[in-house]
Amino acid sequence: MVTLACVAPDVDGLGIVPELLTRNSAHPLNWFSLYHHRLHTLAFSLIVAALALVLAKQKWKVGWLALLSFHIHLFEDMLGSRGPDGYQWPIPYLSPVSSGVQLSWHGQWGLNAWPNVVITIVLLLLTFWLAWWRGFSPLEIISVKADSAFVAALRHRFPGSQQA
Ligand SMILES: [Zn+2]
Repeated sequence: MVTLACVAPDVDGLGIVPELLTRNSAHPLNWFSLYHHRLHTLAFSLIVAALALVLAKQKWKVGWLALLSFHIHLFEDMLGSRGPDGYQWPIPYLSPVSSGVQLSWHGQWGLNAWPNVVITIVLLLLTFWLAWWRGFSPLEIISVKADSAFVAALRHRFPGSQQA
């Protein structure tokens, strides 16, 4: 739930599918251009955290961690998600109550810039190592069977003394 809370803000980016599919039509749906970052808000973070709190067994722990992970997403967007056209996708943090706060950072790097590539490689390696070490990975969210096969493949390829 904490992991899902971290990606939840980008639900507002799903409009990219109809936008790409209709971009050459007579009536293009610009849902990504219009709505991306509309859910990158304090209000939506509270809804997501409240949902996590209600659904989790360890209610307050998961609720607070969901709130934190949601905000880590916003922080990362501010750091390195500048569009190829230079647009910064400012975060309307207090929307819909106020549009006065638009969070952005002048030093923001591009979404496809080298820091994101390096961070992605480091985090993937860390994720693989943790899966190898602990015996489970984020794949577990989708399929326990696929997760077991992934961990088994890792441990077969890199035999050693892991945790379990
Ligand atoms: Zn985002």
